Amino acid sequence: MKDASEPYLLTPGPLTTSAETKSAMLKDWGSWDSDFNLLTADIRQQLLAMANADPETFVCVPMQGSGTFAVEATLASVTTQTEPTLVLSNGAYGKRAADILRYLGRDVQVMDKGDYLPPLPEEVDAWLTAHPEIASVVLIHCETSSGILNPLEDIARVVERHGKRFIVDAMSSFGGVPLYLDQIPLDALVSSANKCIEGVPGFGFVIIRRRVLEASAGQSHSLSLDLHAQWDYMERTGQWRFTPPTHSVVAFHAALEQHRAEGGVAARFARYRQNRDVLVNGMRHLGFQTLLEDNWLSPIITTFLSPDDTNFDFKTFYAELKARGFVIYPGKLTEVESFRIGHIGQVDSRVMQVLLEAVEHSLNIMQVSCTRPATFPQPA
Ligand SMILES: *Cc1c(COP(=O)(O)O)cnc(C)c1O
Repeated sequence: MKDASEPYLLTPGPLTTSAETKSAMLKDWGSWDSDFNLLTADIRQQLLAMANADPETFVCVPMQGSGTFAVEATLASVTTQTEPTLVLSNGAYGKRAADILRYLGRDVQVMDKGDYLPPLPEEVDAWLTAHPEIASVVLIHCETSSGILNPLEDIARVVERHGKRFIVDAMSSFGGVPLYLDQIPLDALVSSANKCIEGVPGFGFVIIRRRVLEASAGQSHSLSLDLHAQWDYMERTGQWRFTPPTHSVVAFHAALEQHRAEGGVAARFARYRQNRDVLVNGMRHLGFQTLLEDNWLSPIITTFLSPDDTNFDFKTFYAELKARGFVIYPGKLTEVESFRIGHIGQVDSRVMQVLLEAVEHSLNIMQVSCTRPATFPQPA
C-alpha cells in the first residue's frame, strides 16, 4: 500500500503525478530565458500534434490559471457581444460555461439536460433549427461532475451542418480520450495541465482555429484573459505575456514526454479504460451501483450512488479510504447522494485492485451491510 502521507489522488485533477514530473520542478527558470521559451514553443507544437491539428489551420495558446481561466478566455474570444450562444449543459461545468457567458454579458441559451442525461445530436439539431440566430455552441466533452462522456463527434457534425462555431470544454478528456481535429470539426478546444496529460496545476491551453482567433482581436472583456493578445505576444516574442507558471510549464513538458513514451493518447485511453473497468466491476461486485449505464461511462471518473444503509456516511468513508492511501471525491449531483472515484493520473489497475480492498475494509469498519442505493434514478 502507498504511504498514506501521500495518498493516491483519485480525483480528476490535480491528480497523482510521476516522480519525474515532480522532480522537473526542482530547477528555477527565467520567464524571458530562451531555453524556457523553447520549452513553451515545443509544448504548443506537441499539443497541436496530439490533436492532429493542422498548424496552418489551428494554433495552440496556453493561458495562466486554472482550467476555468482558459474557458473564460476562450468564450470571450469566440463568442461575440451580439450573437447568442447555446450551451449544452448536463452538469456543473456546463452550468459554469453558461455563468461565464452571463458574466460577460453575452446572450445565452441553455439546453439543460439536468445532472446526467446526455445532450443528443437530434435535440441539438432541433434547437438550432428553431433558433437560427445562434452563432456558437458550447459542449462539455467529459462532464466531470457525473463522469458522462458526451456524444461529441455526432454533435460536432450537427453544429457544422448548421454552420455554427463550436467550442468544446475537453478539460478532463484531452490526452486521455481520442479527439482528433482531422476527424471532428470544431473551432476551439480547451484543456489544462493537470488532467489527462498528468501535469501539475498552473495553466490551461486552447487549440483554436486561427481565423477565429484572428477575428477576435480587441473583443475580450479582460486585459489578462485576452486570448488573442496572449497569442499575438507569444508569436512576436516567444514569451508568455505575463509571468508564466514556470515550474508547472517545465513539469508539463516532462509529463508530455512520458505521455509520448507510454504510447500517446491511444495507450493512455487503454490504461484509463482498464482502470475504470477494474473499478466498476469490483464496485458492482461489492453491490454498488453506477449512476450511468455502461455506454455513457467515461474512462476519466465514475459516479457511484451512495448506499442507503444508515451506517454509511461519506465523510467517514472518505476518512477511512484516506487512511488507507486513497483520496476520493464527493458527488456533485443535485438529486441523489453519490460519490466519485477518478481513474486518471499515475495509477494502474493494480492500484484499483488495492483500492477495492480498501473500500471493502472501510465498509466493514463502518458496519455497512447493504450497498444498494436508496433511489434509482432514470438510467441515462
Ligand atoms: C477540471 C475541469 C474544468 C476546470 O476546472 P478548474 O478548477 O478551473 O481547473 C473545466 N471543465 C471540466 C469539464 C473540468 O473537468
